[in-house]
Amino acid sequence: MKKLLILLALFPALALSDPLKFEQIATGVYVHHGEHKDLNASYGGDICNIGFVIGKKGIAVIDTGGSPKVGARLREAIREVSRLPILYVINTHVHPDHSLGNAAFKQDKPVFVGHGKLAEAMALRREAYLRNQIEWVGADAAGTELIPPSLAVAATHDLDLGGRTLRLTAHPVAHSPADLSVFDTASNTLWTGDLLFIERTPSIDGNIPNWLEVIEQLRTTSAAHVIPGHGSSTTRLGAALDDEKRYLETLLADVRNAIKQGQSMEQTIPTAARSEQGKWLLFDAVNRRNVALLYPQLEWE
Ligand SMILES: [Zn+2]
Repeated sequence: MKKLLILLALFPALALSDPLKFEQIATGVYVHHGEHKDLNASYGGDICNIGFVIGKKGIAVIDTGGSPKVGARLREAIREVSRLPILYVINTHVHPDHSLGNAAFKQDKPVFVGHGKLAEAMALRREAYLRNQIEWVGADAAGTELIPPSLAVAATHDLDLGGRTLRLTAHPVAHSPADLSVFDTASNTLWTGDLLFIERTPSIDGNIPNWLEVIEQLRTTSAAHVIPGHGSSTTRLGAALDDEKRYLETLLADVRNAIKQGQSMEQTIPTAARSEQGKWLLFDAVNRRNVALLYPQLEWE
């Protein structure tokens, strides 16, 4: 008991609330930038960009973090800013670091919103994600649920928050099987989910040629602010997309070339996209997984 009291005195966050730190990047648009850690054992659940947008009628949450604990800390941060109802919880895609905080918002009875194919992606991955969750976030795994969207977006959909509209766009298989981007018309803020990585090596769980096409579509957005799935927010959408495009094209060309030369996957992993190595964080771990996904896809081209 005494030990616990000392612990609580040293770390008051354990006893009381521990809201996440948020930055208001435009009026009513709040973002929390996660840490650049790889998604593996004990990553903590806080590695991507999550946030919320406040309208006159209510609030939309955009991605919920990697555990109910992170989701609860996001919810606390929202409540420090506004008591308006949380009307929508939007998931940009299925990946656990973005969506496993959903359960923290069930009490608000929001409309959960996602890509038309998100429910299917969640169903396919449910077992594996729940099995891995304890390894990923330890005790914070308690209460983890994959909550599929009650509003599934097939192409585009507008959400009215009162005085501002969130325009949702569902994309073909690109970074992942079900990527949704969000554009706030009041502040011209584009939330890309993992269709855009800044600083951190882009990770692939989809299709690079499609992703390159989506990059060109995103480029036509007149965005004053851009919030990527990982990394710093930016005002320079074109430059950020150029960096990502360069990495993806280099990786694609190098893996294709290695296959043509008869190199095995094991030989390709340390050589593909080497010219990009110094330009991105977490390069070795993420690039290795990218090659492992890509090589079998391209082997039969
Ligand atoms: Zn992702």
